[in-house]
Amino acid sequence: MKKGKIFVVGFGPGDREHITKRAVDALQQSDCIIGYKTYVDLIEPLVTAKTIVSTGMTEEVSRAQDAIKKAEAGNIVSVISSGDSGVYGMAGLVYEVLIEMGWIEKEGIEVEIVPGISAINSCGSLLGAPVMHDSCTISLSDHLTPWPVIEKRIEAAAMADFVIALYNPKSGRRTRQIVEAQKILLKYRSPETPVGLVKSAYREKQNVVLTTLAEMLEHDIGMLTTVIIGNSSTFFYDNKIITPRGYQRKYTLGEETQSLKPHQRLKKEAEPWALDQETGKAQAGYEQIMKKKQEVSPLEMALQAVSMVTKTEMENPFFVQQPIEDIFEFAVSPGVANKFITPEQMGVLAKIIGKKGTMEYTPNHYFIIKIPTDQPESIIEKLEQSHLTVMPIGDVVNVKACDFCYGEKAESIPYAEEIAKKLGGLKLPKKLHIGFNGCGMACYRPVFDDIGIVYRKKKFDLFIGAKPVGRTAHAAQPVAEGLEPDQLIPLLTKIIEEYKQNAHPNERLFKYFKRVKKIQNFNYHDMSCKIELEPAPCGD
Ligand code: SAH
Repeated sequence: MKKGKIFVVGFGPGDREHITKRAVDALQQSDCIIGYKTYVDLIEPLVTAKTIVSTGMTEEVSRAQDAIKKAEAGNIVSVISSGDSGVYGMAGLVYEVLIEMGWIEKEGIEVEIVPGISAINSCGSLLGAPVMHDSCTISLSDHLTPWPVIEKRIEAAAMADFVIALYNPKSGRRTRQIVEAQKILLKYRSPETPVGLVKSAYREKQNVVLTTLAEMLEHDIGMLTTVIIGNSSTFFYDNKIITPRGYQRKYTLGEETQSLKPHQRLKKEAEPWALDQETGKAQAGYEQIMKKKQEVSPLEMALQAVSMVTKTEMENPFFVQQPIEDIFEFAVSPGVANKFITPEQMGVLAKIIGKKGTMEYTPNHYFIIKIPTDQPESIIEKLEQSHLTVMPIGDVVNVKACDFCYGEKAESIPYAEEIAKKLGGLKLPKKLHIGFNGCGMACYRPVFDDIGIVYRKKKFDLFIGAKPVGRTAHAAQPVAEGLEPDQLIPLLTKIIEEYKQNAHPNERLFKYFKRVKKIQNFNYHDMSCKIELEPAPCGD
């Protein structure tokens, strides 16, 4: 007699495009298809089977038994599940019923589990990239699982910062579970945590809602919804929910914490928590855990592991409370005019930077400091108490001045300081250096800065739009001579405001000037050299 076979087919979210070829083949080979009515209707256009058995939702066990009986009679049978057949689907149940009957693979009917795209993936794709990092699925259905167990899982997942996909979040009668779940999650995550609600993904009545942990219950959630909750790094961008690949973040002064850009990752100093760092807190934390592990028996360990999900963090002896440290990046200099760093200041810097930070000497007359920390404010405070100037780096206004011949040409210092105070650190489409020189020697080369200012005979000369880098570098264009002191800062402010408003992202001042041909009342003149050049290897 022909030996029968059971396919347990996950057909994906429910549209033709997202079902696998193997699933379609299985359905087409089958003499009989068995499934929940709604699902059978979804795949019906794809099948040619002679018998289709559609049953109610609660008749899962009889569906499995029926399938086995038909396969034993020599038929090829497909039992269908939406999404993946192994995720809250029919695969486990079919095996359970077979095991009860003493089935073993070698002698019994053939079984093939055909995987499909599960709701966490299909719904995730409609939201952007919310899953991305370590994640888990939790079904809120307490029909077959005791609620206290579900509660513990939510708590554990929330505590461990998993991205969480809640399946079976709510039905006509089960309405409290999602409310309780939200309560638990709010103990560990910010109310602003991004949440996606996807109903009927890739089906006719698809509906996608972006909301937050605090507000998610104000929207419609039902049997066909999957709720995806972000981790502590997940963010909204352009109507999407994105979870970054890692936890690496940085502070720059004057801005909120932000994820490292992809090209800034994979550097050791960006991973202050990594186990392979030889020194520091991460290693200490690791050693602490290992020591504790050696002190307890396996049984105690197991009990403590269980208690991890029941006790709060503070009570839990295993929980190493380590705030996630971000990289704090900033520039430091002894001042706008002052070029001397004292030994005391060096001492303060060395202490703050410690073993885990770095201090980089740069061509911009400042040091760039990078320190893993969760307390940037206290660092700034200490440095400022030592009379060091702390400035943001990145796409901001940076003011550098000459040394004013060590004070001999000091009369214009207050102007330089006022410019730094008023405009320094202002966020712009691209970095902008203002160079200030106290005499016509212009020895700190302000003429090669985005904006150059030269103090001469109690008045100011102004230059704009140098191309300071690259092989086609050129000086800035002289645009005004003999500006009165009271004209300077208002004019500078207007130029920078105009650039800030109108430049494209990443468009440096010289490029902007070249494109628009006029800044304030100043017309553009081409200052670039005209030689033919091969493209530079680094793109400049
Ligand atoms: N085996 C399925 C899960 C079945 S449990 C899978 O892997 O996806 C049923 C739950 O799955 C629903 O309550 C809902 O939370 C989720 N689900 C299944 N299909 C979905 C879809 N197309 N859109 C949104 N959620 C879906």
